Amino acid sequence: MMKRRIALLGSTGSIGTQALEVIATHPDDFSVELLTANSNASLLIKQAIRFNAATVVIGRKELFNEVNNALLPHHIKVFAGEESVLQCLAMESIDLVLAAMVGFAGLKPVIEALKNKKPVAIANKEALVVAGDLITRIAAENKTAILPVDSEHSAVFQCIQGELLNPIRKVILTASGGPFRGKDKKFLEGVTPHQALQHPNWSMGAKITIDSATLMNKGLELIEAKWLFGLKPEQIEVIVHPQSIIHSMVEFEDGSMKAQMGLPDMKLPIQYALAYPKRLSPGFTNFNFALNKNLTFEYPDEETFRCLAIARQVMIKAGNAPCAMNAANEIAVAGFLNNEIRFNDIPTLVQLCLDKIEFKTGCTFEEYQQTDEQARHITREIISHKTITSPV
Ligand code: NDP
Ligand code: MG
Repeated sequence: MMKRRIALLGSTGSIGTQALEVIATHPDDFSVELLTANSNASLLIKQAIRFNAATVVIGRKELFNEVNNALLPHHIKVFAGEESVLQCLAMESIDLVLAAMVGFAGLKPVIEALKNKKPVAIANKEALVVAGDLITRIAAENKTAILPVDSEHSAVFQCIQGELLNPIRKVILTASGGPFRGKDKKFLEGVTPHQALQHPNWSMGAKITIDSATLMNKGLELIEAKWLFGLKPEQIEVIVHPQSIIHSMVEFEDGSMKAQMGLPDMKLPIQYALAYPKRLSPGFTNFNFALNKNLTFEYPDEETFRCLAIARQVMIKAGNAPCAMNAANEIAVAGFLNNEIRFNDIPTLVQLCLDKIEFKTGCTFEEYQQTDEQARHITREIISHKTITSPV
């Protein structure tokens, strides 16, 4: 394999730093061409020097001088602002883009990368949830690959290798159940951000950790799977598997089911996407039956964890509904983390916002952006007027 030159968008986050660990383990396979972050200037500077990046972009323009002064002696080019990220994605020297930003902010760069015919390893699930139709169409028009990074979708992708002639009958996404698995609505009423941030199996950024606690993460993943694998909503199921060893399963026409297994460590799916189609040696611990004797499964409790049920309906409704759901959820999660709303208010807010948003299909990027802005506004208004009444 020629050295693959990577653009890492969101390098300072949980996925970004783990991707750099993978790259550090395989210096003959990868080099770092571009690093981007939003606000963590000090870590971005360290990463750029350590990996000898050609170019970096810091999102917040007021941090430009700090980053530029530190990297000038290292001959590393520095830019600032979202527009610069988009411009850098045209660089000839980029072979693959890892989209590891969080939230709606990742959508534009993903589209831009695909328009520049750069294969995209996509961790940023919100982009696919919001505009999966646009993204997959642009990828097809440009004959450019989208490689899943999310562990469940990487599992599905790994299961379908060599099955070109065999359509998927069903995809079964596994869910850990999060920190509140087995709890009832009454219990959830009082949970704090600190409690919700304690994920039993995975160490991740704050937003996705809260999404895992509400099961919105699994809801987003339903929609992500729909677009990545061209599935109908009824072909995608969710099963709770608390040990997070089986990362997802695919059922084929003959009823045979393939599963992909491994310890819950994002470095494996990240590495698979970066090196695809090659498998590289691991720089991480592998699965051991002696330490993981029991693998169990149960159905999700969608009455208590309403976000999953809402997301399923939204997936069926399609159009701009997933975009509105995502925006309302981003605002609700931020509100919960800021102690402005309670845990059970998250699904209530998302549903209230969906009830208010004007439904549209066949949206352009600008229309998705408009829906995103409206949904954020509506959700913020509801929070500020304290008109949420969560059913207990
Ligand atoms: P983090 O919050 O840890 O990191 C987010 C990254 O995006 C940081 O580099 C951050 O920069 C940057 N960023 C944040 N906001 C903006 C913005 N407005 N513009 C540009 N850059 C921005 O998130 P995670 O790494 O946990 O998650 C990244 C994505 O991957 C999410 O979509 C998540 O759902 C998905 N994912 C994550 C998994 C995980 O294990 N963490 C597993 C599967 C999917 P800065 O630090 O400078 O602010
Ligand atoms: Mg996942």
